[in-house]
Amino acid sequence: MKRIYLDYNATTPQADEVTEAMLPYFRERYGNASSPHLFGREARGGLERARERVAALIGADTREIIFTSGATESNNALIKGIARKKRDAGRHIITTAVEHHSVLAPCKALEREGFEVTYLGVDSYGVIDLDQLRDALRDDTVLVTVMSANNETGTLQPIEEIATLVRERNSVFHTDAVQQAGKLPLDVKELHVDALSLSAHKFYGPKGVGALYVRRGVVIPPLLEGGHHERNLRAGTENIAGIVGMGRAAELARERMENDRVLVTSLRERLHREITQRISDVVVNGHPERRLPNTLNVSFRYVEGESVILSLDMKGIAVASGSACTSGSLEASHVLLAMGVPPEQAYSSVRFSLGRYTTAEEIDCLVKELPSIIERLRSISTFSR
Ligand SMILES: *Cc1c(COP(=O)(O)O)cnc(C)c1O
Repeated sequence: MKRIYLDYNATTPQADEVTEAMLPYFRERYGNASSPHLFGREARGGLERARERVAALIGADTREIIFTSGATESNNALIKGIARKKRDAGRHIITTAVEHHSVLAPCKALEREGFEVTYLGVDSYGVIDLDQLRDALRDDTVLVTVMSANNETGTLQPIEEIATLVRERNSVFHTDAVQQAGKLPLDVKELHVDALSLSAHKFYGPKGVGALYVRRGVVIPPLLEGGHHERNLRAGTENIAGIVGMGRAAELARERMENDRVLVTSLRERLHREITQRISDVVVNGHPERRLPNTLNVSFRYVEGESVILSLDMKGIAVASGSACTSGSLEASHVLLAMGVPPEQAYSSVRFSLGRYTTAEEIDCLVKELPSIIERLRSISTFSR
Protein backbone atom coordinates (compact mmCIF):
# COMPACT_ATOMS: atom_id res chain seq x y z
CA MET A 1 0.00 0.00 0.00
CA LYS A 2 1.19 3.51 -0.81
CA ARG A 3 1.71 5.64 2.28
CA ILE A 4 0.70 9.26 2.16
CA TYR A 5 1.75 11.59 4.95
CA LEU A 6 -0.33 14.74 5.42
CA ASP A 7 0.35 15.41 9.08
CA TYR A 8 3.35 17.75 8.84
CA ASN A 9 2.14 19.89 11.73
CA ALA A 10 2.55 16.89 14.05
CA THR A 11 6.04 16.20 12.81
CA THR A 12 7.95 16.33 9.54
CA PRO A 13 10.03 13.63 7.91
CA GLN A 14 13.70 14.28 8.54
CA ALA A 15 15.34 15.69 5.41
CA ASP A 16 18.04 13.44 3.90
CA GLU A 17 20.43 16.40 3.94
CA VAL A 18 19.86 16.62 7.70
CA THR A 19 20.56 12.92 8.22
CA GLU A 20 23.75 13.24 6.14
CA ALA A 21 24.93 16.18 8.24
CA MET A 22 24.29 14.23 11.45
CA LEU A 23 25.99 10.95 10.52
CA PRO A 24 29.61 11.99 11.23
CA TYR A 25 28.54 13.03 14.73
CA PHE A 26 27.23 9.53 15.39
CA ARG A 27 30.45 8.01 14.11
CA GLU A 28 33.87 9.64 14.26
CA ARG A 29 32.95 13.02 15.77
CA TYR A 30 31.78 11.69 19.12
CA GLY A 31 33.68 14.15 21.28
CA ASN A 32 32.24 16.04 24.21
CA ALA A 33 31.94 19.71 23.24
CA SER A 34 33.34 20.71 26.64
CA SER A 35 36.63 18.83 26.10
CA PRO A 36 39.64 20.93 25.07
CA HIS A 37 41.20 18.27 22.83
CA LEU A 38 40.74 17.67 19.11
CA PHE A 39 37.64 15.51 19.58
CA GLY A 40 36.02 18.07 21.80
CA ARG A 41 36.89 20.92 19.45
CA GLU A 42 35.31 19.03 16.56
CA ALA A 43 32.06 18.64 18.48
CA ARG A 44 32.21 22.27 19.60
CA GLY A 45 32.65 23.32 15.99
CA GLY A 46 29.52 21.45 14.95
CA LEU A 47 27.60 22.92 17.87
CA GLU A 48 28.58 26.51 17.15
CA ARG A 49 27.98 26.20 13.41
CA ALA A 50 24.51 24.91 14.19
CA ARG A 51 23.94 27.86 16.52
CA GLU A 52 24.83 30.27 13.71
CA ARG A 53 22.37 28.57 11.37
CA VAL A 54 19.52 28.53 13.86
CA ALA A 55 20.21 32.16 14.79
CA ALA A 56 20.16 33.08 11.08
CA LEU A 57 16.74 31.47 10.61
CA ILE A 58 15.18 33.94 13.06
CA GLY A 59 17.50 36.94 12.73
CA ALA A 60 19.02 36.46 16.20
CA ASP A 61 22.59 36.76 17.46
CA THR A 62 24.28 33.45 18.20
CA ARG A 63 24.60 34.36 21.86
CA GLU A 64 20.83 34.57 22.12
CA ILE A 65 20.24 30.90 21.22
CA ILE A 66 20.03 28.14 23.85
CA PHE A 67 19.65 24.57 22.61
CA THR A 68 17.06 22.47 24.42
CA SER A 69 15.37 19.08 24.10
CA GLY A 70 12.49 20.58 22.10
CA ALA A 71 9.85 23.26 22.21
CA THR A 72 8.11 21.72 25.20
CA GLU A 73 11.27 22.34 27.21
CA SER A 74 11.77 25.78 25.67
CA ASN A 75 8.22 26.83 26.56
CA ASN A 76 8.35 25.40 30.09
CA ALA A 77 11.77 26.84 30.80
CA LEU A 78 10.94 30.32 29.60
CA ILE A 79 7.52 30.59 31.22
CA LYS A 80 8.54 29.14 34.56
CA GLY A 81 11.91 30.90 34.40
CA ILE A 82 10.44 34.37 33.92
CA ALA A 83 7.86 33.69 36.61
CA ARG A 84 10.53 32.60 39.08
CA LYS A 85 12.77 35.52 38.24
CA LYS A 86 10.03 38.11 38.49
CA ARG A 87 7.75 36.79 41.17
CA ASP A 88 8.55 39.69 43.47
CA ALA A 89 7.82 42.23 40.71
CA GLY A 90 4.45 40.74 39.81
CA ARG A 91 2.48 37.55 39.51
CA HIS A 92 0.33 38.10 36.46
CA ILE A 93 0.78 36.28 33.14
CA ILE A 94 -1.17 36.72 29.93
CA THR A 95 -1.58 33.98 27.36
CA THR A 96 -4.35 32.80 25.03
CA ALA A 97 -6.94 30.06 25.10
CA VAL A 98 -5.55 28.53 21.90
CA GLU A 99 -1.95 27.82 22.92
CA HIS A 100 -0.23 24.45 22.63
CA HIS A 101 -0.46 22.34 25.78
CA SER A 102 3.25 22.93 26.41
CA VAL A 103 2.35 26.57 27.12
CA LEU A 104 -1.02 26.02 28.81
CA ALA A 105 0.23 23.35 31.23
CA PRO A 106 3.10 25.43 32.71
CA CYS A 107 0.68 28.36 33.03
CA LYS A 108 -1.71 26.10 34.95
CA ALA A 109 1.19 24.95 37.14
CA LEU A 110 2.03 28.58 37.95
CA GLU A 111 -1.60 29.26 38.84
CA ARG A 112 -1.28 26.56 41.48
CA GLU A 113 1.78 28.44 42.77
CA GLY A 114 -0.13 31.67 43.22
CA PHE A 115 0.20 33.31 39.83
CA GLU A 116 -2.81 34.77 38.09
CA VAL A 117 -3.13 33.89 34.41
CA THR A 118 -5.36 35.69 31.91
CA TYR A 119 -6.35 33.49 28.96
CA LEU A 120 -7.23 35.83 26.12
CA GLY A 121 -10.14 34.73 23.98
CA VAL A 122 -10.06 34.65 20.18
CA ASP A 123 -12.48 35.53 17.40
CA SER A 124 -14.10 32.96 15.13
CA TYR A 125 -10.89 32.80 13.07
CA GLY A 126 -8.73 32.17 16.12
CA VAL A 127 -7.15 35.64 16.28
CA ILE A 128 -6.78 37.51 19.57
CA ASP A 129 -8.20 40.99 20.06
CA LEU A 130 -5.52 43.64 20.61
CA ASP A 131 -7.88 45.82 22.65
CA GLN A 132 -8.52 42.90 24.95
CA LEU A 133 -4.77 42.47 25.35
CA ARG A 134 -4.30 46.18 26.06
CA ASP A 135 -6.97 45.99 28.77
CA ALA A 136 -5.47 42.85 30.26
CA LEU A 137 -1.94 44.29 30.61
CA ARG A 138 -1.24 45.45 34.17
CA ASP A 139 1.67 46.79 36.16
CA ASP A 140 2.21 43.35 37.64
CA THR A 141 2.13 41.53 34.27
CA VAL A 142 5.52 39.86 34.09
CA LEU A 143 5.01 37.80 30.94
CA VAL A 144 2.86 37.69 27.82
CA THR A 145 3.08 34.50 25.77
CA VAL A 146 1.19 34.20 22.49
CA MET A 147 1.91 31.63 19.77
CA SER A 148 2.75 32.99 16.34
CA ALA A 149 0.89 30.32 14.33
CA ASN A 150 -1.61 27.79 15.58
CA ASN A 151 -0.78 24.13 15.07
CA GLU A 152 -4.41 23.05 14.54
CA THR A 153 -5.78 25.77 12.29
CA GLY A 154 -2.66 27.53 11.02
CA THR A 155 -4.11 30.90 12.07
CA LEU A 156 -1.44 33.60 12.52
CA GLN A 157 -1.45 36.10 15.38
CA PRO A 158 -0.46 39.76 14.94
CA ILE A 159 2.87 39.22 16.69
CA GLU A 160 4.43 42.58 15.88
CA GLU A 161 1.43 44.50 17.20
CA ILE A 162 1.34 42.36 20.32
CA ALA A 163 5.06 42.97 20.87
CA THR A 164 4.55 46.73 20.62
CA LEU A 165 1.81 46.69 23.25
CA VAL A 166 3.83 44.51 25.60
CA ARG A 167 6.94 46.65 25.18
CA GLU A 168 5.00 49.80 26.11
CA ARG A 169 4.24 48.13 29.42
CA ASN A 170 7.79 46.86 30.02
CA SER A 171 6.67 43.27 30.23
CA VAL A 172 8.37 40.29 28.58
CA PHE A 173 6.91 38.91 25.37
CA HIS A 174 7.46 35.28 24.41
CA THR A 175 6.12 33.53 21.33
CA ASP A 176 5.88 29.84 20.54
CA ALA A 177 6.93 30.06 16.89
CA VAL A 178 7.23 26.31 16.34
CA GLN A 179 4.71 26.19 13.51
CA GLN A 180 5.86 29.32 11.72
CA ALA A 181 9.57 28.51 11.62
CA GLY A 182 10.56 27.32 8.17
CA LYS A 183 7.11 28.02 6.72
CA LEU A 184 7.08 31.82 6.78
CA PRO A 185 9.81 34.38 7.48
CA LEU A 186 10.48 35.07 11.13
CA ASP A 187 12.74 37.84 12.39
CA VAL A 188 13.03 38.47 16.11
CA LYS A 189 14.46 41.95 15.61
CA GLU A 190 11.68 43.06 13.28
CA LEU A 191 9.03 41.49 15.47
CA HIS A 192 10.63 42.79 18.69
CA VAL A 193 9.97 39.62 20.62
CA ASP A 194 11.94 38.97 23.81
CA ALA A 195 11.84 35.19 23.66
CA LEU A 196 10.87 32.57 21.11
CA SER A 197 10.61 28.78 21.04
CA LEU A 198 11.59 26.47 18.17
CA SER A 199 11.43 22.73 17.56
CA ALA A 200 13.66 21.01 15.00
CA HIS A 201 11.27 18.20 14.11
CA LYS A 202 8.66 20.63 12.84
CA PHE A 203 11.03 21.80 10.09
CA TYR A 204 12.60 18.56 8.82
CA GLY A 205 15.11 18.23 11.63
CA PRO A 206 15.43 15.50 14.26
CA LYS A 207 13.04 14.93 17.15
CA GLY A 208 14.08 15.76 20.69
CA VAL A 209 15.99 18.92 19.93
CA GLY A 210 14.84 22.51 20.00
CA ALA A 211 15.96 25.99 20.81
CA LEU A 212 15.00 28.94 22.94
CA TYR A 213 15.84 32.42 21.77
CA VAL A 214 16.21 34.90 24.62
CA ARG A 215 16.94 38.49 23.67
CA ARG A 216 20.13 39.90 25.14
CA GLY A 217 19.23 41.80 28.28
CA VAL A 218 16.41 39.46 29.26
CA VAL A 219 17.65 37.43 32.20
CA ILE A 220 16.28 34.02 33.03
CA PRO A 221 17.52 31.48 35.57
CA PRO A 222 19.21 28.31 34.24
CA LEU A 223 16.81 25.86 32.64
CA LEU A 224 18.79 22.99 34.13
CA GLU A 225 21.55 23.36 36.72
CA GLY A 226 24.82 21.50 36.60
CA GLY A 227 27.80 22.13 34.35
CA HIS A 228 28.64 25.24 32.41
CA HIS A 229 26.99 24.29 29.11
CA GLU A 230 25.02 26.78 27.02
CA ARG A 231 26.47 29.79 28.87
CA ASN A 232 25.34 28.33 32.19
CA LEU A 233 21.73 28.42 31.05
CA ARG A 234 21.14 24.76 30.28
CA ALA A 235 23.45 22.22 31.86
CA GLY A 236 24.03 18.79 30.40
CA THR A 237 26.25 17.38 27.67
CA GLU A 238 24.85 18.67 24.42
CA ASN A 239 23.02 16.42 21.97
CA ILE A 240 25.57 17.29 19.31
CA ALA A 241 24.20 15.14 16.48
CA GLY A 242 20.68 16.43 17.10
CA ILE A 243 21.83 20.03 17.30
CA VAL A 244 23.90 19.68 14.12
CA GLY A 245 20.76 18.25 12.46
CA MET A 246 18.71 21.20 13.67
CA GLY A 247 21.32 23.58 12.27
CA ARG A 248 21.28 21.92 8.88
CA ALA A 249 17.47 21.88 8.92
CA ALA A 250 17.45 25.61 9.71
CA GLU A 251 19.82 26.30 6.84
CA LEU A 252 17.67 24.27 4.44
CA ALA A 253 14.54 25.97 5.72
CA ARG A 254 16.03 29.33 4.83
CA GLU A 255 17.11 28.20 1.37
CA ARG A 256 13.85 26.45 0.57
CA MET A 257 11.29 28.56 2.39
CA GLU A 258 9.97 30.35 -0.66
CA ASN A 259 9.90 27.19 -2.82
CA ASP A 260 8.20 25.24 -0.07
CA ARG A 261 5.70 28.00 0.50
CA VAL A 262 4.71 28.23 -3.16
CA LEU A 263 4.44 24.44 -3.47
CA VAL A 264 2.34 23.81 -0.38
CA THR A 265 0.12 26.82 -1.00
CA SER A 266 -0.84 25.59 -4.45
CA LEU A 267 -1.37 22.01 -3.24
CA ARG A 268 -3.37 23.19 -0.25
CA GLU A 269 -5.56 25.33 -2.53
CA ARG A 270 -6.02 22.37 -4.86
CA LEU A 271 -7.04 20.16 -1.95
CA HIS A 272 -9.45 22.77 -0.64
CA ARG A 273 -11.01 23.32 -4.09
CA GLU A 274 -11.47 19.61 -4.73
CA ILE A 275 -12.96 18.97 -1.31
CA THR A 276 -15.54 21.73 -1.64
CA GLN A 277 -16.42 20.62 -5.18
CA ARG A 278 -16.84 16.96 -4.32
CA ILE A 279 -18.23 17.05 -0.81
CA SER A 280 -21.16 19.02 0.59
CA ASP A 281 -21.43 20.57 4.05
CA VAL A 282 -17.77 21.36 4.53
CA VAL A 283 -16.63 24.30 6.69
CA VAL A 284 -13.11 25.69 6.97
CA ASN A 285 -11.83 26.29 10.51
CA GLY A 286 -9.29 29.08 10.93
CA HIS A 287 -8.51 32.29 9.13
CA PRO A 288 -9.00 32.13 5.34
CA GLU A 289 -5.92 34.26 4.60
CA ARG A 290 -3.90 34.96 7.73
CA ARG A 291 -2.96 31.32 7.97
CA LEU A 292 0.03 29.05 7.46
CA PRO A 293 0.37 28.09 3.78
CA ASN A 294 0.37 24.35 4.49
CA THR A 295 -2.60 23.92 6.80
CA LEU A 296 -6.22 23.13 5.98
CA ASN A 297 -8.56 22.42 8.88
CA VAL A 298 -12.09 21.53 7.80
CA SER A 299 -15.19 20.10 9.40
CA PHE A 300 -17.12 17.50 7.46
CA ARG A 301 -20.51 18.02 9.02
CA TYR A 302 -22.36 15.03 10.51
CA VAL A 303 -19.29 12.82 10.81
CA GLU A 304 -16.67 12.44 13.49
CA GLY A 305 -13.22 13.61 12.48
CA GLU A 306 -11.78 10.68 14.40
CA SER A 307 -13.70 8.27 12.11
CA VAL A 308 -12.39 10.10 9.05
CA ILE A 309 -8.78 9.72 10.12
CA LEU A 310 -9.26 6.04 10.91
CA SER A 311 -10.87 5.42 7.52
CA LEU A 312 -8.10 7.33 5.72
CA ASP A 313 -5.52 5.45 7.77
CA MET A 314 -6.87 2.19 6.36
CA LYS A 315 -6.05 3.59 2.93
CA GLY A 316 -2.56 4.50 4.07
CA ILE A 317 -3.28 8.22 4.32
CA ALA A 318 -2.22 10.00 7.51
CA VAL A 319 -4.06 13.14 8.64
CA ALA A 320 -5.06 14.49 12.07
CA SER A 321 -8.40 15.18 13.69
CA GLY A 322 -9.21 18.13 15.90
CA SER A 323 -10.61 15.95 18.61
CA ALA A 324 -8.57 13.63 20.72
CA CYS A 325 -9.77 10.42 22.26
CA THR A 326 -8.77 10.59 25.90
CA SER A 327 -9.77 7.83 28.31
CA GLY A 328 -12.48 6.49 26.09
CA SER A 329 -14.36 9.73 25.50
CA LEU A 330 -13.92 12.09 22.60
CA GLU A 331 -12.61 15.50 23.60
CA ALA A 332 -13.22 18.39 21.23
CA SER A 333 -10.26 20.63 20.42
CA HIS A 334 -9.76 23.45 22.93
CA VAL A 335 -8.64 25.62 20.02
CA LEU A 336 -11.84 25.21 18.01
CA LEU A 337 -14.05 25.57 21.09
CA ALA A 338 -12.25 28.82 22.00
CA MET A 339 -13.06 30.07 18.48
CA GLY A 340 -16.73 29.54 19.26
CA VAL A 341 -17.01 26.59 16.89
CA PRO A 342 -20.03 24.52 17.99
CA PRO A 343 -18.95 21.22 19.63
CA GLU A 344 -20.48 19.13 16.82
CA GLN A 345 -18.44 21.02 14.23
CA ALA A 346 -15.34 20.67 16.39
CA TYR A 347 -15.84 16.89 16.63
CA SER A 348 -16.11 16.83 12.83
CA SER A 349 -12.81 18.57 12.18
CA VAL A 350 -9.94 17.09 10.24
CA ARG A 351 -6.53 18.73 9.83
CA PHE A 352 -4.60 18.29 6.63
CA SER A 353 -1.07 19.63 6.91
CA LEU A 354 1.18 19.50 3.86
CA GLY A 355 4.90 19.90 3.46
CA ARG A 356 8.02 19.92 1.34
CA TYR A 357 7.61 16.35 0.09
CA THR A 358 3.88 16.46 -0.64
CA THR A 359 3.04 15.79 -4.29
CA ALA A 360 0.07 16.57 -6.51
CA GLU A 361 -0.44 12.81 -6.96
CA GLU A 362 -0.83 12.42 -3.22
CA ILE A 363 -3.43 15.17 -3.07
CA ASP A 364 -5.28 13.60 -6.01
CA CYS A 365 -5.23 10.23 -4.30
CA LEU A 366 -6.67 11.78 -1.15
CA VAL A 367 -9.47 13.63 -2.95
CA LYS A 368 -10.35 10.42 -4.79
CA GLU A 369 -10.78 8.47 -1.54
CA LEU A 370 -12.37 11.14 0.60
CA PRO A 371 -15.89 11.55 -0.92
CA SER A 372 -16.88 7.90 -0.54
CA ILE A 373 -15.47 7.80 3.00
CA ILE A 374 -17.48 10.86 4.02
CA GLU A 375 -20.58 9.52 2.28
CA ARG A 376 -20.33 6.15 4.02
CA LEU A 377 -19.71 7.73 7.42
CA ARG A 378 -22.64 10.09 6.92
CA SER A 379 -24.94 7.22 6.04
CA ILE A 380 -24.24 5.61 9.41
CA SER A 381 -23.85 8.85 11.35
CA THR A 382 -25.74 9.39 14.57
CA PHE A 383 -25.15 13.15 14.42
CA SER A 384 -28.44 15.01 14.02
CA ARG A 385 -28.97 17.02 10.85
C1 LIG B 1 4.93 20.54 18.31
C2 LIG B 1 4.66 21.80 19.03
C3 LIG B 1 5.25 22.05 20.29
C4 LIG B 1 6.08 21.03 21.02
O1 LIG B 1 7.31 20.82 20.42
P1 LIG B 1 8.22 19.55 20.86
O2 LIG B 1 9.56 19.86 20.31
O3 LIG B 1 7.58 18.37 20.21
O4 LIG B 1 8.22 19.49 22.34
C5 LIG B 1 5.01 23.28 20.87
N1 LIG B 1 4.24 24.19 20.28
C6 LIG B 1 3.67 23.99 19.08
C7 LIG B 1 2.81 25.06 18.48
C8 LIG B 1 3.84 22.79 18.42
O5 LIG B 1 3.25 22.58 17.25
